Amino acid sequence: MDKLRQSLRANVKLMKSEITRYALFGTLIAFGALILATAINAYLQSGEITIQAMIEAQKTNVTLWIMDAMPFIFAFWGQYTSTIMAYEAGSIVMEQTADLRNLTVELEHKAVHESTHDTLTGLPNRTLLYDRLNHAIQMASRRKTSLVLMILDLDEFKQVNETLGHYSGDQLLCQVVSRLQIIIRKSDTLARVGGDEFAILLDMSTHREMVLNIVKKLQKIFMEPFSIEGLDIEVMASIGIASFPDHGMEADTIMQRANLALVNAKQNTKKFAVYNKDMDKGSPKRITMMGELRHAIDTNELMVYYQPKVNLAQDRVGSVEALVRWQHPEHGFLSPDEFIPMAERTGLIRPLTIWVLNAALKQGEKWHKKGLKIGIAVNLSPAALLDTELPDVIVGMLSLYEIPARYITLEVTEGSMIKDPDLALKILSRLAELDIKISIDDFGTGYSSLAYLKKLPAKELKIDKSFVMDMLESESDAVIVKSIIDLGHNLSMKVVAEGVENKETAVKLKALGCDIIQGFYFSKPLNHEALIQWLGEKRQPIN
Ligand code: C2E
Ligand code: CA
Ligand code: CA
Repeated sequence: MDKLRQSLRANVKLMKSEITRYALFGTLIAFGALILATAINAYLQSGEITIQAMIEAQKTNVTLWIMDAMPFIFAFWGQYTSTIMAYEAGSIVMEQTADLRNLTVELEHKAVHESTHDTLTGLPNRTLLYDRLNHAIQMASRRKTSLVLMILDLDEFKQVNETLGHYSGDQLLCQVVSRLQIIIRKSDTLARVGGDEFAILLDMSTHREMVLNIVKKLQKIFMEPFSIEGLDIEVMASIGIASFPDHGMEADTIMQRANLALVNAKQNTKKFAVYNKDMDKGSPKRITMMGELRHAIDTNELMVYYQPKVNLAQDRVGSVEALVRWQHPEHGFLSPDEFIPMAERTGLIRPLTIWVLNAALKQGEKWHKKGLKIGIAVNLSPAALLDTELPDVIVGMLSLYEIPARYITLEVTEGSMIKDPDLALKILSRLAELDIKISIDDFGTGYSSLAYLKKLPAKELKIDKSFVMDMLESESDAVIVKSIIDLGHNLSMKVVAEGVENKETAVKLKALGCDIIQGFYFSKPLNHEALIQWLGEKRQPIN
């Protein structure tokens, strides 16, 4: 406020100096007019214009006295009005400055709010939840109390989104939030941490009975169907629970363990689960493994294996698919299915994806330099399709390694685009603009609409191996395979069949017009040395 006053004073001073100049001109003109009038009067009275005659005129002519007062009146009036005007103008400036200032503060608040809140529901987002969780942990450890974190995930949300559209999906989420808000207290935090995933932070000394009571209440709100555009929709939710200090001392660990409990909850009939140590056992020590994976990315425990994709028309290996492996010091050779899903939930998937891309492109550069011109396909996880920085990371890699972008394929699954189809389309389009090939992986298992598929800048469709592996025994799988091949060709895409384990399947696929075949019939994924050796050997025949 003081600053404002100071600037008002400076404004007034400036304006006054301008206005006073005009008042001064007025006064000078009045003076000039007075001298002229006195001289004329002197001449009329005595026939001459001398100082003496002018003093005489001044003494005798009353009207000149009134004129004498004019310069002073002008000077006073000018000074007075200039002060009033300057203050009025100054206060207008001050008002407008204050308005601008308020607007700026408002915009700043809005920006902060948007970075910490979900735009659809207005709830705190993952960032703010972490903040509050950290703060709550500090408070609880000082007061020697506990706190509880629940992760709640809607079970059939994808279907709602897919069958009724995203607008209805959004409506459903908002209705769920309204119901949840009735249950939680003001001191608790309800946050949206994923598309259909919410976190509830109960900041209190929590007894087991109280927690169970809250779970019951949470489950009850899903017993009533939700009404979306006149339809009654039944949605279930699963809940994973972890607490401080019993299940972890840090926000990261508690979050991970609540997530692990959620995975268990989805599989049990009670639809909720409290974390316990046995849950780590299912897949080899998942929690500690995540810490180790972080380490493995930095050391040389990860490896990339390559599986050939055989182009039938050209009768050659056009490209290979890069598949990550982990040589774990204790658990041995781990397949991606054992660590990729967890990496996706914990955010480790980003450094992992970048690691695989780097390793694959580096290897590709070596092959190309040796004259082996084959393409390399790398798998992108769903999280990668929400990462707006990924295209720039890839641009950086393409300038680092001497391998043309057209030799790179990125395999994305249909399902990975469901969370944010518009963003996924944007990211894929940017990648395609770089001349990178996009391939739709595991096709047939997702729910993408044909309209969406048509919009995608994809050049390749990979039939999910579950259909391919059973197509000889199952007539319906054979029909699906044939339909996908026709669909892909109608959309001007090359069609790949993966999971081809025997000659009969390969022959049938060739007859159906499939373009590329990948599978154990030709080769399992191999390390780069074994791949070079395999490429030099005679391939399995398809006729
Ligand atoms: P995917 O992309 O569908 O990869 C094909 C999987 O099928 C590979 O399993 C491959 O070994 C297996 N496969 C190939 N031919 C046959 C066959 O004839 N019969 C059978 N039964 N299986 C066959 P893998 O390497 O265990 O990978 C599993 C999944 O893990 C991949 O499925 C992919 O979704 C994911 N993945 C692998 N590497 C990466 C990676 O670097 N990044 C990401 N984000 N995901 C990866
Ligand atoms: Ca793949
Ligand atoms: Ca696949």
